[in-house]
Amino acid sequence: MPWRRERPVPYHVWLSEVMLQQTQVETATPYFRRFIRSFPSIRSLSNADLQDVLKHWEGLGYYSRARHLHAAARIVSSTRAGRLPRSAKELRELPGLGEYCSAAIASIAFGESVPVVDGNVVRVVTRLLAIADDSATSAVRQRISTHLASCLADHPPGDFNQALMELGALVCRPRNPDCEKCPLRNRCQAYADGDVERYPVKAPRKPTPHHEIAVGIVRRSGRILVTRRAAKGMLGGLWEFPGGKRIGRESLKTTARRRILEETGITVQVGSAVASVAHAYSHFSIQLSAYECTVQAGRAKARRNDEVRWVSPAQAKELPWPTASRRIVDVLASGASRFDKQ
Ligand code: SF4
Repeated sequence: MPWRRERPVPYHVWLSEVMLQQTQVETATPYFRRFIRSFPSIRSLSNADLQDVLKHWEGLGYYSRARHLHAAARIVSSTRAGRLPRSAKELRELPGLGEYCSAAIASIAFGESVPVVDGNVVRVVTRLLAIADDSATSAVRQRISTHLASCLADHPPGDFNQALMELGALVCRPRNPDCEKCPLRNRCQAYADGDVERYPVKAPRKPTPHHEIAVGIVRRSGRILVTRRAAKGMLGGLWEFPGGKRIGRESLKTTARRRILEETGITVQVGSAVASVAHAYSHFSIQLSAYECTVQAGRAKARRNDEVRWVSPAQAKELPWPTASRRIVDVLASGASRFDKQ
């Protein structure tokens, strides 16, 4: 892993922990390398344009991570000469740094003796101690944290935390943990009980909602109308085609027409379907359908979003997009304007 060093670089540790919060190592690694090449220091990140930072994050998801990273870099540059705070408590005051991330950075980059509790660690410790309560509750998290704090005293904190996270990722896996190779086997209660996959105990998940989204590829003089989402909130600062959620039983073409008017103030005629892509977020899923549209009346203005812009297909490719919209952009760029379920 490119961020692992004998003497860790705090900025690299910070960036890697933020990227790894919701992303697998294999996916995050090329993003990490590209990010570090473009923004080699906290100061260079703080001087970068947010749109450029979001473009480097495109496809990683959870874009608030990139916005917070950028905002925190600006704070660290302006108030701390580009140096990260060294304690978990101070790190928590920066945008986007919660308990887990702050503890990981403080222990790995600065050697502070604080436990890190991520999903992998929760799995290992709930099995070690055979904790039969819902692992998402704060009581269980606190119990795990207290247990680890007592173990930490005898070990270098960065090594200890990383070893435990890695044990969870590689050995104490959710399914088929490799207990025969586990160095903690002799002190693992779940293993002794022969019931390792019972843990961690999770409350049943609610069904995830699904939304049908219809958007318009509104063309004028070889350009396409795009809108930038408000900076705050989900997918904040990213670009998309005007459109939105279907209501009740209206047709998708009606949805596109209604939403384009609401978002940009223009009335369109909705034509043929271009593409339809499915995408799953953590709490809901969407089917995003795009339609060719021609302007009938009005001038485009930003009403619900931060900005509207007419762009060429080449310019569209350079903007940061959410994953589902990016796939529509790719269909348009390939010239394969068709209605495919992708
Ligand atoms: S013995 Fe098995 S269940 Fe227990 S910590 Fe090791 S890998 Fe996990």
